[in-house]
Amino acid sequence: MATLEIRALSVAYGPVRSLRDVSLDVPDGAITAVLGGNGAGKTTLLRAVSRTLGFHRGTGTGTVRFDGQPLDGLRPDRVVAAGVVQVPEGRQVFARMTVADNLRAGALGAPGGRRAAADALARVHELFPVLARRAHQSAGLLSGGEQQMLAMGRALMARPRLLLLDEPSLGLAPLMAQRIAETVREINASGTSVLLVEQNASIALRLASTAYVLEVGEVTLEGPAAELAASDEVRRRYLGVV
Ligand code: ATP
Repeated sequence: MATLEIRALSVAYGPVRSLRDVSLDVPDGAITAVLGGNGAGKTTLLRAVSRTLGFHRGTGTGTVRFDGQPLDGLRPDRVVAAGVVQVPEGRQVFARMTVADNLRAGALGAPGGRRAAADALARVHELFPVLARRAHQSAGLLSGGEQQMLAMGRALMARPRLLLLDEPSLGLAPLMAQRIAETVREINASGTSVLLVEQNASIALRLASTAYVLEVGEVTLEGPAAELAASDEVRRRYLGVV
């Protein structure tokens, strides 16, 4: 069964239609990637799942189910409590707060008590040792890659079963992007399903088992990631192969 099922999702911001009739699955335990250029609707898709569209004056139709239960109508904090957590594009760490306090904020509203939060913190420090070393520094002093680690660590503090990742490699040097990709693989290997939105198609297609291409709000291609990586269209448009 798919952990996440999106069916016939259409979203508009006032007169601007951003998604049209999008259907997509994240199978249980899988990494599913969504590729697409600027403005294709990738962030909008994640907002529709995390129920944060309203903060951006967006409205949607269609259904989003997580483990068979509709998320439609839930408040964003209930979505987090249900196990679905978004890592926003551009990290959006709390720059003036310490690294430790950013991580603590991620555990607010998550299921489980102090013990669960302590376990989650230990796991985050294991995945990202730099966050333990820099625990008492302001998050704003971290490098871009470290801020991405913090944003992912903050999301993991809520112990998600589905992680929504919005362009984690954006603006990072290739080596750092690669490290982040390896961590995504590790997080997935310990049981968290992932919906990964990326402009960097080569990273996304290496990580994911299934991928979708979104163009101007519509799914134009979908299939096993290996098949998409071999398709002429994807190679030309997204992998820069001529
Ligand atoms: P990018 O990679 O550039 O962030 P994206 O694929 O994530 O692009 P979205 O951010 O989902 O795309 O945007 C899809 C479309 O919806 C774009 O045309 C964008 O201008 C529009 N849009 C996004 N947010 C809003 C908003 N709050 N109000 C009006 N239009 C919006």
